[in-house]
Amino acid sequence: MEPAMDNIGSYCDIISWFEDVSENAPRVQTQTLRRILQLNFAVEYLKKWIGEVNVEDVEDSALESLYTSLVPLASHADFEPYVQRIVDGEKAPLITEEPITTLSLSSGTTEGRQKYVPFTRHSSKTTLQIFKLAAAYRSRIYPIKEEGRILEFIYSSKQFKTDSDITVGTATTHYFASDEFKIKQQQTKSYICSPEEVISSGDYKQSTYCHLLLGIYFCDQVEFIASTFAFSIIQSFISFEESWKDICNDIRDGTLSSRITIPSVRKAVLDIISVPNPCLAKRVQSKCEELEELDWFGLIPKLWPNAKYVYSIMTGSMQPYLTKLRHYAGDLPLVSADYGSTESWIGVNVDPCYPPEKVSFAVVPTFSYFEFIPLNRSENEDGKSAIDDFVEDDPVPLSHVKLGQQYEIVLTTFTGLYRYRLGDVVEVVGFHRNTPKLNFICRRKLILTINIDKNTENDLQLVVEKGSQILRKARAELVDFTSHAEIAKNPGHYIIYWEIKGEVEESVLEECCREMDASFIDHGYVVSRRRNSIGPLELRIVENGTFKKIMENFIANGAAMSQFKTPRCTTNQVLLRILNLCTIKRFHSTAYES
Ligand code: AMP
Repeated sequence: MEPAMDNIGSYCDIISWFEDVSENAPRVQTQTLRRILQLNFAVEYLKKWIGEVNVEDVEDSALESLYTSLVPLASHADFEPYVQRIVDGEKAPLITEEPITTLSLSSGTTEGRQKYVPFTRHSSKTTLQIFKLAAAYRSRIYPIKEEGRILEFIYSSKQFKTDSDITVGTATTHYFASDEFKIKQQQTKSYICSPEEVISSGDYKQSTYCHLLLGIYFCDQVEFIASTFAFSIIQSFISFEESWKDICNDIRDGTLSSRITIPSVRKAVLDIISVPNPCLAKRVQSKCEELEELDWFGLIPKLWPNAKYVYSIMTGSMQPYLTKLRHYAGDLPLVSADYGSTESWIGVNVDPCYPPEKVSFAVVPTFSYFEFIPLNRSENEDGKSAIDDFVEDDPVPLSHVKLGQQYEIVLTTFTGLYRYRLGDVVEVVGFHRNTPKLNFICRRKLILTINIDKNTENDLQLVVEKGSQILRKARAELVDFTSHAEIAKNPGHYIIYWEIKGEVEESVLEECCREMDASFIDHGYVVSRRRNSIGPLELRIVENGTFKKIMENFIANGAAMSQFKTPRCTTNQVLLRILNLCTIKRFHSTAYES
């Protein structure tokens, strides 16, 4: 059995640990499955499927096929009754032998609703492991000073207790509250600029202001800028554009703006910044005045001159924010962070020098037992550009995946999920020794569909990118977007909501609308548009700040800023009401008019 990674300290040793487990990935996967089954063979869920089979009697070579022949593929709905019984206080081992005392809320923004997912010590251990692993690979390309600082825009939301004493919160919140996070803080010699009180204030606006203030206070020591998802970095710098004068005042006088009202946060921040620093304030002020002239281009390197890179998840639904992120980052490299979910971490970025568009994730075979459902997109009559529903084959183990093939990921975790379909589509784009490197493609779920048309989040993203190219030429910028398939009237049609920054003529927006309609290459959509069984695409422009309202609505309902992802399609009536109330202009495509 490969040694556990927990006790490995130096970056060099961590890398050689991963090189070893990835070299032996197929064997490590069998061991991982064996370990999960050894730990949990007697739990109610597994007993139902594997009965009295004793995994100890099963040879390694037969273990995976026996397991997959006995235990069926499952979805979140299959585990929901068990999780509900845990919430209701049942103490018997239902899905794990170790009692589950903590449940995570997945962000729910990808699926449309929040889901409860079990969280155990193993979850925070693997979070610490992947952070260390990724840091080790980054350090080879971008070494940082040991005593430096990290300006990290992280937020934990509130944890609450159920009547049965189960702690509920987002996975990131549980991690920030865990011993593993404390260990990370002690072991890594680079410190986050903000103290714990700022991270866990529970008010994202106050946390953001303090993150920025302390980031500026320690500006010469900051070695890199980070967040979980790139969205938080963008939000933070947008708010910096508005609050920088207050930040400079606070630095100059050693005071703290009255916008910070939480006593513990005030105390923690004032303990750090209370010595007036007029010299730094003046320097920052003059840089900000120059930056304002440049529409804040290159803000990060200008204000944090020693920062080596920006680090965050920039793939998948974060990709549309890259243009804005590059605007702030100027020449600084963008390093895309790792791939995981509330259910399990999956892969690490072992090539931090690649730009986010090219990044892939090497599967860490000790984290969970992974299976891959091959997905093939069926060809349309023209034999080209077929974006159709996926045709599935039987799941294959990690050792059988093929280069260039797309798959849906299936997880068997240490936290009580067995053959659980995650719903993410990935493509195998290479191998790191014997473990696959995955490109994240999209969530599998179709988001835009009216009749025979089928479009995923990724399809919509590509279409919106086409439209926003026209917008950029007109010197305006797409701030955020979402969509809705309107079926109340016949024929139904797609609505794309855009929030934009900058003045553009109506004719430009008309062109964007037409371009987007013509850019859906899904055969079902094209045919339906030609036959008018789907009506012209509608582009609705919403007023400034609309997407912020949407984010705040999610946060008010328990989502954490750190895990927030703008839903790219919505049927949620509250969101649609916000979007429709904030609509200021509407355009209809003429792309299919003859
Ligand atoms: P959640 O569990 O709700 O926080 O979200 C997890 C989901 O976020 C995953 O299933 C993916 O769809 C997406 N995700 C996580 N990490 C990445 C990444 N590095 N690139 C693209 N999408 C990601």
